Amino acid sequence: MRAMVFYGPGDLRAEELPTPEPRTGELVLRIDAALTCGTDVKTLRRGHPVMIPKVPTVFGHEFAGTVTAVGPGVAGFREGDRVVAANSAPCGACRPCLSGRANLCEDLLFVNGAYGEFIALPPRLVAKNVVALGPVLPTARAAFAEPLACALLGIERARVESGQTVVVFGTGPLGCLLGMLAAARKARVILVGKSGWRLERARKLGIGECLDTTQSDDTAAAIRATIGGPGADVAIDATGRPEVWEQAIDATGRGGSVVFFGGCAPGSSIRLDTRRAHYEELTLLGAFHHTPDLIRRAVELMDSGGLTPDDLITHRMRLGEVREALDLMARGDALKVLIEP
Ligand SMILES: [Zn+2]
Ligand SMILES: [Zn+2]
Repeated sequence: MRAMVFYGPGDLRAEELPTPEPRTGELVLRIDAALTCGTDVKTLRRGHPVMIPKVPTVFGHEFAGTVTAVGPGVAGFREGDRVVAANSAPCGACRPCLSGRANLCEDLLFVNGAYGEFIALPPRLVAKNVVALGPVLPTARAAFAEPLACALLGIERARVESGQTVVVFGTGPLGCLLGMLAAARKARVILVGKSGWRLERARKLGIGECLDTTQSDDTAAAIRATIGGPGADVAIDATGRPEVWEQAIDATGRGGSVVFFGGCAPGSSIRLDTRRAHYEELTLLGAFHHTPDLIRRAVELMDSGGLTPDDLITHRMRLGEVREALDLMARGDALKVLIEP
């Protein structure tokens, strides 16, 4: 089979590999749709010790496909089933897993290999984090399950509800998904980003009100003026920049919640006004990754028509064009590229 194999920072090779055979507990899928992700761009640039502990490995982590072979001992899946698989599986036995926070599992097993014609899914992933698709859910849409589950975690952490004002910083695919989820909960959504085609696209998609940060020196003040009240009920950073984490805190009103969704570079720190954190009872929340429950809920949400992320796909390309696709992402010229092997 053809695959794009990651050997280390900057080193992605098109290779011919043996088509995998399923061992006990495994499923082999033909990948029908894979999506590029900002994480791929970061990983290609500097590696990723958590998601990619050893190389070489087939690259990419957002995918959906069709079961082509079922290993011994696998129940619940048959050849021909269309499925989506998460890119990780928790152990189910550690303290975070037992307390319902499987995203913080102490032994999270990461799985890569979206940019290949086939993939063998390991037994733990098959047992915990593979979801069969209903007949009407298109495979390309189902491939959004992983990023959408991450966004759901952020929205759940802040308990976003109807009538709240939710400010999302960042107009990349996750900023858009976070905004779409908040809007689906009938919150007022304000998307904050630099002027450019991404902000324009978010505006055209009608995700929420859009605020251009290049129009003002004081982003938090501009947000407060737009809201016309004391500040956001919920502010979510989806940029992973420390100065934007600070803006998110500054834009949040009394009793509000801030969700740190975008991961910053290692060693970053931010300023915090302790007076506001204390007397205004700000709730500061991290949000990382997803759980098997959220993967299922993301699939249900798309299957029921509650959320349709298709318009975030800005380009479609072939397997051999993954490098070009990631270059487009790196330049900020694409939201999601659909890779169809
Ligand atoms: Zn991703
Ligand atoms: Zn665990």
